[in-house]
Amino acid sequence: AGKVTFVGTGLQLAGQISVLSKSYIENADIIFSLVPDGFTERWLVSLNANHHSLQPYYAQKGEVKNRRDTYAQMVDAILEQVRLGLNVVVALYGHPGVFACVSHLSIKQARLEGYQAEMLPGISAESCLWADLGIDPGTSGHQSYEATQFMLYQHIPNPKTHLLLWQISLAGEHTLTEFSTTSERLEILVEHLSQWYPREHEVVIYEAATLPHLKPRIERFNLEQLPHVELSTISTLLIPPSEQLALNFDILKRLGIEACDIG
Ligand code: SAH
Repeated sequence: AGKVTFVGTGLQLAGQISVLSKSYIENADIIFSLVPDGFTERWLVSLNANHHSLQPYYAQKGEVKNRRDTYAQMVDAILEQVRLGLNVVVALYGHPGVFACVSHLSIKQARLEGYQAEMLPGISAESCLWADLGIDPGTSGHQSYEATQFMLYQHIPNPKTHLLLWQISLAGEHTLTEFSTTSERLEILVEHLSQWYPREHEVVIYEAATLPHLKPRIERFNLEQLPHVELSTISTLLIPPSEQLALNFDILKRLGIEACDIG
């Protein structure tokens, strides 16, 4: 009976995949992939030659195509092989289920049709970010949003925690047809964020290295400069806390704890 498994290849070529995920790839009847570069793709082919890239489903040069159509076609291509009774493995860069809809949509559809479908975790951009920046997100907690969703919906950031905005290079691009945003839209985002953060608050553009000989990009600048900073599809924006954690005296009282008792 057909089945589908989503695995993550991590961000960096060959080294950030789990042992289990690698073995799934090697033992699959067919693999699909969506990875950041040709090196990673060739490495996947070396693990399993029956490889198909999902990249061609994105709009090609000169073509205008809604990414929703792209994702639907990817799901169809995957499901078609599952229905043929094959053991299908789909390798996505990073964690296959983090800010990635194709895995969730495919698994849902496959299960609906009675097929076995599962996801194995991978090393996401966020895992790399905490490691490269030397931040423990547990010291203050953190929030994560897709940048456009953050703009279009009423999300309230907590300036006492770390805030990650994913797909910052697409911030405010609601048509799902373009692959970059504009400084005007980023200006609106900065204005929005300045309700909670000083405009001169230091923020970071982070890009994990995707090849072993490269270094991550870690660029620090004031929030207000965001519209003028170079962004790419792999950029993630980190806004560190701008305020100290504040004690909840009501809970302290109910727990019978004094502020000076807290380590
Ligand atoms: N599933 C992926 C994320 C896909 S969404 C994962 O687990 O990492 C795409 C977004 O991920 C990008 O817009 C960016 O915000 C982030 N991202 C992807 N590659 C990255 C990289 N090399 N460094 C930092 N962030 C990255």
